[in-house]
Amino acid sequence: MEERDRIQEVVMRKKVLVLGANFGGMTAALAVKHELAGDVDVTVVSASDRFLFNPSLIWLPFGKRDAGDITFRVEPTFEAHDIEFVHAAATGVDPVAKQVTVADGRRFGYDYLVIATGYRNNDDVVPGFRENATTITTLAEAERAGEAWRRYLQDPGDVVVAATQGAGCFGAAYEFLFNTAYQLKKAGLDKQVKLTYVTAEPFLGHFGIGGLPHGEQLLGMFLKKEGIDARISVGIDHVDDGALVLAGGETLPFSFGMVVPPFLGQDFLKAADGLADEKGYVRVRDTYQSEKHDDVYAVGVAAAVDVPWQTPTPVGIPKTGFPTEQMAHTAASNIAAQVRGEPATHTKAFGDIKAVCVMDAGNNGVIILADKMLPPRKHGVLIPGPQAHLMKLGFEKYFLWKMRHGYVQLP
Ligand SMILES: Cc1cc2nc3c(=O)[nH]c(=O)nc-3n(C[C@H](O)[C@H](O)[C@H](O)COP(=O)(O)OP(=O)(O)OC[C@H]3O[C@@H](n4cnc5c(N)ncnc54)[C@H](O)[C@@H]3O)c2cc1C
Repeated sequence: MEERDRIQEVVMRKKVLVLGANFGGMTAALAVKHELAGDVDVTVVSASDRFLFNPSLIWLPFGKRDAGDITFRVEPTFEAHDIEFVHAAATGVDPVAKQVTVADGRRFGYDYLVIATGYRNNDDVVPGFRENATTITTLAEAERAGEAWRRYLQDPGDVVVAATQGAGCFGAAYEFLFNTAYQLKKAGLDKQVKLTYVTAEPFLGHFGIGGLPHGEQLLGMFLKKEGIDARISVGIDHVDDGALVLAGGETLPFSFGMVVPPFLGQDFLKAADGLADEKGYVRVRDTYQSEKHDDVYAVGVAAAVDVPWQTPTPVGIPKTGFPTEQMAHTAASNIAAQVRGEPATHTKAFGDIKAVCVMDAGNNGVIILADKMLPPRKHGVLIPGPQAHLMKLGFEKYFLWKMRHGYVQLP
């Protein structure tokens, strides 16, 4: 190649910058590289240098998994696919200058930006939640919940598992609830301690997606079989040391409490003009381009999804792994189109993405399948049984293998 052509190619080569390296970021970075057969520069900037398989956090407090089992370093994966990795937290986005600033002041320019910075806990919705209860929504918190669980086994008492007003990750709350029931049975404690589920859902099995046929009866049967009490369609006023106080004033004493809070997007996104809503979620079109900027995309939990219903106690939307991957692939296809000089026409509205999920229950569970994440739907089915537990075990191994090798084109 002539020197002049080589220089022109370097100048023309587009730069894709991806923020976040978990389900959304890793998928988007690898997918865009593959779609353009390597003919693009991709850089990933992430606050964590490890991939975390969050769905297995439900097992961590019970010692069934540790951090090493469910995480891996992302840099070798990116290196193998000719993607640059920067271990840093983004602190600012300037969509006009097309630059991202990170914590140490470095700036990264881009032609296309993918924001996949996920969630953080909203600690402020329920006073006392951080100090007096545990949660499992981050690795560090799940490890802390494990310490609390081990202390609990020395001095057992009643247990409360709750999903607060505004929470969306109900699947994790149910999984933890049924895994707790299973662990209490294994420890011979199930007859002597009371297990209570508190939820903002308007009915059991709503899951933040409006429920599925026979879901309410099925979840009701599961709770009854395990002897679990429930408080449904209720908010939490606050958490005291050893007691959850509901919005109506009822007090539920506990020796171990796990609370799933609502999520928020990352704060730094709110400072960028017109990019994010008041929760820090980026407003997107069905192409996953930001509403305001054609060259900025957001996928996964970072993307805003409007809750299509009003419930007596507010509930959020669960932006789970499968839709996150679908959003990332859609964004990658659109970026590849734009790089080729074509319009971004790939669309996949969040509500139309298939719902594919497994709710684990210790040695049992429920497979959740629907043609759409949100109603109206044509098909939706819940398949209970021990195969669901085996499926989650197999899926965890498969998914970690797939991501570690960067095989994001696989289902
Ligand atoms: C307990 C639990 C159980 C779950 N179970 C299931 C399940 O069974 N099935 C399922 O499908 N889904 C499940 N989910 C949901 C699933 O984990 C999410 O869909 C998925 O994590 C979303 O991926 P994401 O990439 O959008 O965000 P995240 O996973 O939150 O990743 C965000 C990434 O951005 C990085 N980041 C954050 N801030 C910055 C910053 N300022 N700068 C740069 N990088 C940053 C983080 O380090 C991380 O790499 C569960 C979630 C939880 C919490």
